[in-house]
Amino acid sequence: MENHIYFDYAATTPLEPTVLSAMMPYFKERFGNPSSIHSFGRNARAALDKARAELATLLNTSSSEIFFNSGGTEAINTVFKIAIRSLGVKRIISAPIEHPATLQSINYWVNQQHVVVDFLPVNAQGLVVLDNLEAMIQDDSKKTMVVLMHINNETGLINDIETIATLCQKYKVIFFSDTVQSIAHYNFGQLRHKPDFYVGSAHKFYGPKGSGLMYVNKNLLLEKGIRLQPLLYGGGQERNMRSGTENLPGIIGLVKALTFVYENLEQYEKHLFSCKSYFIKELRKIVSNDTVIFGEQTPQYANSNIISLALPFNERTAMLLYSFDIERIACSSGSACSSGANKGSAMMKIIYPEKEVVLLRISIGIHTTLDEINQFMIAFKNILL
Ligand code: PLP
Repeated sequence: MENHIYFDYAATTPLEPTVLSAMMPYFKERFGNPSSIHSFGRNARAALDKARAELATLLNTSSSEIFFNSGGTEAINTVFKIAIRSLGVKRIISAPIEHPATLQSINYWVNQQHVVVDFLPVNAQGLVVLDNLEAMIQDDSKKTMVVLMHINNETGLINDIETIATLCQKYKVIFFSDTVQSIAHYNFGQLRHKPDFYVGSAHKFYGPKGSGLMYVNKNLLLEKGIRLQPLLYGGGQERNMRSGTENLPGIIGLVKALTFVYENLEQYEKHLFSCKSYFIKELRKIVSNDTVIFGEQTPQYANSNIISLALPFNERTAMLLYSFDIERIACSSGSACSSGANKGSAMMKIIYPEKEVVLLRISIGIHTTLDEINQFMIAFKNILL
């Protein structure tokens, strides 16, 4: 929208024009169903196989480990179903500040009495405390899965997934990481230690909505010859895991978008980190001393594109998002669903149980400019006055 500033890239990103161009033929002349026998179908099947192979190369994995789906929420729900129904997981170690898709899934499976859950503590800086993780996973009385997201969608803080993956590999414990906010900020093809499950959602990285991926480490399945129980029953698409005609334009868009981001990754991350450090420097001049800027004290755990503040609740901050909206600036108070309902951040209640704070999440992207940041500062000063 003209004259509006977008600082909500962690909620969703604009579709990159080259991604749209790559998708267009699959809406138009190459519209065939990959399961059809005729030439339209065969062309679509070839494009689907090619897209999966390209993604596998990008992620330095094999095509058989990649499943396409509708996005992060579906991928996360599926991971829990596979882990619990097919792999026999009976205990989950996680943190109470995961995304609602994870927390609600855990809740469901605990209520069904299929698993028990142990939550790791979270400190006042918003970091998950991992000190006891090694001791906890040594207890092998129940088949365990560690569930820790890579980049927190509200705070932008990082869990060191390579260290966690190494630990889990040492004790042969399954590790799932929700990488929806990180897959486009790290080259996953170059990670030395990866989670057994990780996930992605194209609309978070300049791709289309409704298109996602799930990675499943094939060693999990090969060891015991496990066959995955399907998420959706039907025509047997996605190697029988997820029936239903594949969203080919979405899949083409996802692969094109991740390729586009990875090709420019160094340049984009440099831009984001430099915008973020300017943002924090300027914010510090405006906000009160008791405002927490997540990652300010622990920059080694701060990601590149989320600038998140816990502001003391008062009559100015209570209406913050609306005030920014009036100033034509789009930012958020956390995950898209809770900000839409304006319920406040459940995560902040966990990190600061004794304080009433307002979460302001500013998330930047490849199109963010210094001029936009300066305009934000002028607006913020006016709002807080
Ligand atoms: N996990 C995280 C960390 C997210 O930020 C989101 C989206 O906000 C999701 C999962 C859900 O992804 P999707 O919108 O593709 O369902």
